[in-house]
Amino acid sequence: MSDTPKTDFIREIIAADLASGKHATTITRFPPEPNGYLHIGHAKAICLNFGIARENAASGARCHLRFDDTNPAKEETEYVESIKSDVKWLGFDWGENLFFASDYFEFFYECAVALINKGLAYVDRQTAEQIKETRGNLTVPGKESPYRDTPPEENLDLFTRMRAGEFKEGEAVLRAKIDMASPNMNLRDPVIYRIMHAHHHNTGDAWCIYPMYDYAHPLEDAVEKITHSLCTLEFEIHRPLYDWVIEHCPVPAKPRQIEFARLNLTYTVMSKRKLLQLVKEGLVEGWDDPRMPTLSGLRRRGYPAAAIRHFCQRIGITKYNGTTDVALLEFDVRDHLNTVVPRRMAVLDPLKLVIENWPAGESEEVEIDNHPKDPAMGTRTLKLSREVWIERDDFQEEPEKKYFRLGPGRYVRLRGGYIVHCTGFNKDAEGRITEVHCEYLPGTKGADAPEGVKCKAAIHWVSVEHGVDAEVRLYDRLFTEADPDDAEGGFVTVINPDSLTKVRAYVEPELAGVEPEFSCQFERLGYFVADQKDHRPGVHLVFNRTVALRDSWK
Ligand code: ATP
Ligand code: MG
Repeated sequence: MSDTPKTDFIREIIAADLASGKHATTITRFPPEPNGYLHIGHAKAICLNFGIARENAASGARCHLRFDDTNPAKEETEYVESIKSDVKWLGFDWGENLFFASDYFEFFYECAVALINKGLAYVDRQTAEQIKETRGNLTVPGKESPYRDTPPEENLDLFTRMRAGEFKEGEAVLRAKIDMASPNMNLRDPVIYRIMHAHHHNTGDAWCIYPMYDYAHPLEDAVEKITHSLCTLEFEIHRPLYDWVIEHCPVPAKPRQIEFARLNLTYTVMSKRKLLQLVKEGLVEGWDDPRMPTLSGLRRRGYPAAAIRHFCQRIGITKYNGTTDVALLEFDVRDHLNTVVPRRMAVLDPLKLVIENWPAGESEEVEIDNHPKDPAMGTRTLKLSREVWIERDDFQEEPEKKYFRLGPGRYVRLRGGYIVHCTGFNKDAEGRITEVHCEYLPGTKGADAPEGVKCKAAIHWVSVEHGVDAEVRLYDRLFTEADPDDAEGGFVTVINPDSLTKVRAYVEPELAGVEPEFSCQFERLGYFVADQKDHRPGVHLVFNRTVALRDSWK
């Protein structure tokens, strides 16, 4: 499974720019705002930007990790740290190229002064409501502000006083002077600076005016000499403003913005605002809850970084918005794990099976392969004894049609060991089966069933004497609806009540010693991972279901 990308329209543009000599090298950037954890949608942007840099390494290409931290109100250092660790986990490295947009505040300010001096920006003292009301709409042009023609010297004085903290929030803004009648609303004298008396995680209280995204972003790209600024389609309509800022400000480079379709997934909400709501309202157990589409959640769920990269490569880069079936991601995870992780046995819904003709207190070693198709993974030795746990649904009192497992008088093989013959069972007062009885057939270990014995299935088991207790967390999709964003009562009303089920299970002894994040297949059940946070080897075992063996949502 490779994650070398096919080409796409962006990679074609980049190759052409190198070939024509327009650029000697390629510089991309991934510019998260540190106001939440990264999600699988960001993985698409990371794989694209860092991927392009890696593919063009020969010409000195690089990708910057830039924190777009221009809004003091929503940002926290916890997010900065989580973003760095997630990008690394996904397999990418920014090297020396770690930047913070807030380091450019002085440059943004100088550019604003340059715009004012050219008569291209003015301080507007109207209220926020007045500015909103005079913007017009798609059919009605906007109305020019009475402050629009203030001379540059006066604007400069006002802007200096804005910076000095002489105004309260909302008393003044700086606007670009472009075109109040433009059919593109973004060009109707957009606000480029506002006053916020807020503490910033990087610059502290040095500033009380903060630049708007549409103004700051092109300048950040230009300072870093980004050649191709890749963003999602909703910014297409902002591109004329991006280009206007680049054209009129004293910038050291002229980056080009190119848009691509964002990733949307079925049964998933992707916006950080909504993910934050899930966390804040306690609907999940944190940003890294294994049901979250965050990279830290997916990691805790047991999704391998390589499977996520492969998924991003497979969906490709296009200009068309759509929604990708989450089953495709799950398929890649299963497909990847299938080849790389070993098999183990665990019983999640235990029912005791007593082998009546097996001497009490004795056990026998059986050797089991760790992977059915990969002999290099070797074998392990397990102890079989008189009492074993089997799955409750591997026994039926009155077997239905096509049920080939255990039932009265039936035969089944204990995986890697003997064929057993069911001789009876016990029930409690409520009619629930408490114990199943059987006899093993000597000579059937590693050998075919004898003449006249019909044995069509092998079931997994864990020795009662040797197995160990574990908590197993069965995760499922977080929402019951394919498009939770469209739910009538909002996405929180379609949370899947069965998205997490905790069970007490028995697992084979070797699993007692595995470290957090150890991944394996529990035979016949699915892929599981030792929980990154709560699993403590030898003390308290916790396994998360990464994905079931088959898609049960079809
Ligand atoms: P959200 O809408 O979830 O808050 P955002 O776009 O506000 O995301 P940023 O931190 O600003 O988040 O995004 C960093 C980069 O990741 C941007 O270049 C953005 O275009 C890209 N990105 C965000 N979401 C997706 C997505 N679903 N698919 C592809 N790229 C995305
Ligand atoms: Mg955002």
